[in-house]
Amino acid sequence: MSYVTQVIGERGRYGPYGGRYVPETLMAPLEELERVYAEASHDPNFRSQLDDLLHNFAGRPTPLQFAPRLTEHLGGARIYLKREDLLHTGAHKINNCLGQGLLAVRMGKKRVIAETGAGQHGVATATVAARLGLSCTVYMGTEDMERQRLNVNRMRLLGAEVIGVQAGSRTLKDAINEAMRDWVTNVGTSHYLLGSVLGAHPYPQMVRDFQKIIGEEARAQILRVERRLPDHLFACVGGGSNSIGLFHAFLGDASVKMVGVEAGGRGKSLGEHAARLGAAGGFVGSRPGVLQGTYTYVLQSEDGQIAATHSISAGLDYAAVGPEHAWLADQGRAEYTAVGDDEAIVAARSLARLEGIIPALESAHAVAELIRRAPKMKKDEIVILNVSGRGDKDMETLSRYV
Ligand SMILES: *Cc1c(COP(=O)(O)O)cnc(C)c1O
Repeated sequence: MSYVTQVIGERGRYGPYGGRYVPETLMAPLEELERVYAEASHDPNFRSQLDDLLHNFAGRPTPLQFAPRLTEHLGGARIYLKREDLLHTGAHKINNCLGQGLLAVRMGKKRVIAETGAGQHGVATATVAARLGLSCTVYMGTEDMERQRLNVNRMRLLGAEVIGVQAGSRTLKDAINEAMRDWVTNVGTSHYLLGSVLGAHPYPQMVRDFQKIIGEEARAQILRVERRLPDHLFACVGGGSNSIGLFHAFLGDASVKMVGVEAGGRGKSLGEHAARLGAAGGFVGSRPGVLQGTYTYVLQSEDGQIAATHSISAGLDYAAVGPEHAWLADQGRAEYTAVGDDEAIVAARSLARLEGIIPALESAHAVAELIRRAPKMKKDEIVILNVSGRGDKDMETLSRYV
């Protein structure tokens, strides 16, 4: 059976992964979302509204830019950068937020709920809510709120209510629990705007569909300039939305190799990294399990407690990975690797100095893996790397190192 037919299989399954593991109260709203999303995706009116916002509000299409100095410096393949960092709010997250925001309007829901770690998804959600006239509540761990003051202020300026979560480690996974609690209580009026290809069906498929425009554009752009497909794709993997967004349009092209780069953090033992698909690289603690409504690889202790994770980049710092990546990894259709904190910092500096682009620390992980591999590639090979976001938000961290 080909890859694609399995993906289309029922109930959002990717091989054994994915599915819908939620309390009874959430079954009805998830089914409603699945149905409304299916209708919307066949409605030319919905598509044209979304296309208009993507173009005029968010700034699509993003350029596919040849990187001459990085190419020369590494001495191997010809490197192209997909510039998602140029989008409004500075990252690919707006693609998904616009899609789900329009679905909320279509469902007659006047309010969106989101959780956020570093605040990037919260800012994109608050931005879209303002544009569409929806009210917006964002849950954020109080520890994260202190670390990301500026994003808290941005969300509030945009009119969102930011609720600090005091529970547990006071970070992302505690914020997710609170956001879910809110959704269960207010399902009639509120849409849960999930930020990556995680969660129960239909989220992983729907978020991927809203992000696959990255690869669709890149495919057309590279065919225009090079008149052939690329040999390699590189993208960082947090939940997995920007990477699946780039990969998806190429999954049927067997000649295109795909590399997803996770956070290697500061070591291979449990708690020191977020390399959920990194067992082959010696990263410890990941095995399949259920987290946030989906069956996928999860970093966990021997007795199944969700493990702490570490990465210098908040967007990659999560215990589970999107179920479609779990399946791509098992099949060997995409390869997954991990890059540590220090190497990501060095890569961010290289891209800044060689190409005049300060990448988000998340994206810098993909750059680091490319720096490892490109010198061994042939000069006529072609690489596309997704610059998922810009580095302004990471300037404090970067300045500490540089
Ligand atoms: C949130 C974020 C990521 C990680 O999320 P994915 O769903 O894996 O794409 C990567 N890069 C940037 C810039 C982000 O803001």
